[in-house]
Amino acid sequence: MFEKVLIANRGEIALRIHRACREMGIRTVAVHSTADADAMHVRLADESVCIGPPPARDSYLNIPAIVSAAAITGADAIHPGVGFLSENAQFAEIVEAHGIVFIGPKPAHIQSMGDKIVAKETVSKLGIPCVPGSDGALRDAAHATAMAADIGLPVLIKATSGGGGRGMKVVESLDQAADAFNMARQEAKAAFGDDQVYMEKYLDKPRHIEIQILADGHGNVIHLGERDCSLQRRHQKVLEEAPSPALNAAARQEIGKIAVDAVKAMGYRGVGTLEFLYQDEQFYFIEMNTRLQVEHPITEAVTGIDLVRLQIQVAAGARLSLEQAAIQFDGHAIECRINAEHPRSFMPTPGRVTDYHAPGGLGVRVDSALYAGYAVPPHYDSLVAKLVVHGANRNECLLRLRRALEEFVIGGIDTTIPLHQELIAENDFLDGHYDIHWLEKSFLAKSD
Ligand code: ADP
Repeated sequence: MFEKVLIANRGEIALRIHRACREMGIRTVAVHSTADADAMHVRLADESVCIGPPPARDSYLNIPAIVSAAAITGADAIHPGVGFLSENAQFAEIVEAHGIVFIGPKPAHIQSMGDKIVAKETVSKLGIPCVPGSDGALRDAAHATAMAADIGLPVLIKATSGGGGRGMKVVESLDQAADAFNMARQEAKAAFGDDQVYMEKYLDKPRHIEIQILADGHGNVIHLGERDCSLQRRHQKVLEEAPSPALNAAARQEIGKIAVDAVKAMGYRGVGTLEFLYQDEQFYFIEMNTRLQVEHPITEAVTGIDLVRLQIQVAAGARLSLEQAAIQFDGHAIECRINAEHPRSFMPTPGRVTDYHAPGGLGVRVDSALYAGYAVPPHYDSLVAKLVVHGANRNECLLRLRRALEEFVIGGIDTTIPLHQELIAENDFLDGHYDIHWLEKSFLAKSD
């Protein structure tokens, strides 16, 4: 097992990884920008190295600085966390070329799944249904228009290298297709340095259902059930739950097996998530994330399994000792993503946190790097806390979540806690009747 792991990330996820390492007897190295000298992940780690100025491209995305920090501190592995360099195949390759283990999949898998066109081709050959769409990239505006007519409106133009819901354009009429294609290309180029785009049928009422898998690279693959991440704003997840209120046991078993078989055939190693849209009882693959997901704690809550611990173990070469039949799903879990944002305008609200009180009690977990007196810097993602609640069933979970949100105090800055409080009081949510459009088109539109 590793003796020392460098955590190439910040915020709550850096802390999450630190905690797993500590419990495994592994020492940790934090890296940080100058804006994060006071951050909790820096305070708790055994050692820390400043890797650059506040902008992420100069610090948390600065590959030479991070690899040097690992070399100087003698770390034998690097955990990339989520976001930043976690899906950068070149980073994984460089890390391994320096004799350091990258806690993640093989670079070739990061590369192929990071290209969404290749990913769809790969899984479709393995028998997984995908959203109908263009065969590969769109060549030009005329191709986009012809394809839109062929697939049938509405369609969605998406970036091949996309992530975080960016660079997507809905096309409702054929005369919009050329403009949407050009805009999507520009946005994709600016956000991802790659202007390749493709097209999919725009589904009108799907749920976003994703399957967590875990593979040891020795041929053993298991799935840990699904997460329903349909509550989204601008294609970004707001609240997630496991299990999905929309799936029955047979559907869960079926999609879990399909995912496991595909991942086995790929020879994949590590944690991964296959994301699907689910409409009219059909699953359509959209992408695979080759890393830990922000919402992994709800899977941990219903399975009792520490995903980060297992991720570290398989990266160290261990075989999975768990078999699929040993995975028991217990109760219901919900995660609220609490952002430093105004709960209605969603404007970021960086600044000093004057008071901080996290909820507790049975079934309540808070993953956050906040503390009273901490100043949330303006340079990074606005996620500041994840409230994860577990109950024996969905109803108990909802009552507990309401209670936990009432207890949560983050003073001095606006957060999205009030948004979650309103959201979980809605009948459609309580009934589990929502799709990926519901939050924006019904809930937020109503109160505008
Ligand atoms: P990203 O990698 O940017 O997150 P995804 O392909 O995972 O992009 O899609 C993010 C979200 O965008 C999905 O969860 C869904 O809400 C929406 N979306 C993606 N593809 C489609 C589609 N074909 N039809 C309708 N909505 C879609």
